[in-house]
Amino acid sequence: MTPAPRPWEVSRRMAAQGLLGITIGQADGGQGGSLMDAVIAIETIASVCPRSADVVQAGNFGPIRVLAEYGSDEQKSRVLSRLLAGEAVIAVAMTEPEAGSAVTDLKTTATPDGDGFRINGSKVFTTHGRYADYLLAYVRYGPGLGGIGSVLIERGMEGFRTGAPVRFLSGEEWVQLYFDDVYVGPENVVLGEGGFRKQIAGFNVERIGNSARSLALGRHAFELAREHALTREQFGRPLCEFQGLQWKFADMKIALDGAELLLYRAACNADRGFPSAEETSIAKAACNKTGFEVASEAMQIMGGAGYSESSLVEYCFRRTRGWMIAGGSPEMMKNRIAEIIFDRRFPQRPPRPAAERA
Ligand SMILES: Cc1cc2nc3c(=O)[nH]c(=O)nc-3n(C[C@H](O)[C@H](O)[C@H](O)COP(=O)(O)OP(=O)(O)OC[C@H]3O[C@@H](n4cnc5c(N)ncnc54)[C@H](O)[C@@H]3O)c2cc1C
Repeated sequence: MTPAPRPWEVSRRMAAQGLLGITIGQADGGQGGSLMDAVIAIETIASVCPRSADVVQAGNFGPIRVLAEYGSDEQKSRVLSRLLAGEAVIAVAMTEPEAGSAVTDLKTTATPDGDGFRINGSKVFTTHGRYADYLLAYVRYGPGLGGIGSVLIERGMEGFRTGAPVRFLSGEEWVQLYFDDVYVGPENVVLGEGGFRKQIAGFNVERIGNSARSLALGRHAFELAREHALTREQFGRPLCEFQGLQWKFADMKIALDGAELLLYRAACNADRGFPSAEETSIAKAACNKTGFEVASEAMQIMGGAGYSESSLVEYCFRRTRGWMIAGGSPEMMKNRIAEIIFDRRFPQRPPRPAAERA
């Protein structure tokens, strides 16, 4: 297999400019900034180079944040320092073939072996999974939600292998990850049993980065369509003079500005950099939908030019489509929002038969 291209050539330069670890404390080698600082940074970079924004995502919003918050001092000096320097990449390996939206159904087991654990299971769809140096893998130490925690799996560990690459619509590749009796020492345990809620609190930060990129790519497509509508003439007039298109632009702007305010609310109100589940769910559902719908409308306005590979609008369309699925889909976010509205749980699983409940 040819080596996977690493989109990380720029990561060291970004690290040098203080664009990695923006929300991570200075004592841990970060910049000591706020979540809002990180949102502005990722939005700004995504608006000029979406691929570079992926590096900002991985260096601020993803599993790196979980490691900075819950990792041991030893993990921070051994792993976090490399991530912050742009020398290594970490990915979050959560989704499994049988556990997507129902992530707590995950089956990857961590079985005690001496001081450490043996990991057995498989993961799918992991962003950067093909080449990441470290995986923050969600594992099961025991039954139920309380049995879930996480370990660091390193590339090259015995028993860790990857399957053939598969392409998403966006062009990104993922590989299935297989863990066959991978030994993880105690130094690589991040969160033990009972760690799931902490991991999801950290994952809400990931969702904020995902929301910011959805919005930035939607806005990028909007700007390209705006330029096009100012210059492209049909029926002897620039497109921007047709009211049918003006109203599309007005609707897009209302949606973009509204979603941005929801994103900023979640980021500004974040407690020590961790946004609330409520504000994150609302922001993510709004930003994912808006980013994708605006990219789609921008493509419509640009006609064949927008549908062509020569325009970045088609790229924005494909990338924003993926964020309608990744990291807690808008449907799952709306399930959460409904629970907040009615102040009660709506379990998604079928009720257990009465005989089992007795
Ligand atoms: C671009 C991309 C990047 C990703 N990156 C990562 C990564 O880095 N790490 C990782 O671990 N995973 C990653 N994923 C996986 C992602 O988190 C899952 O795809 C997601 O959780 C949905 O799971 P699923 O694909 O199995 O769909 P399913 O869970 O099978 O859902 C299928 C559809 O049903 C809907 N649905 C499911 N349950 C309900 C419900 N109760 N109510 C209403 N609707 C429901 C879903 O919203 C979806 O539309 C990525 C996915 C994509 C597309």
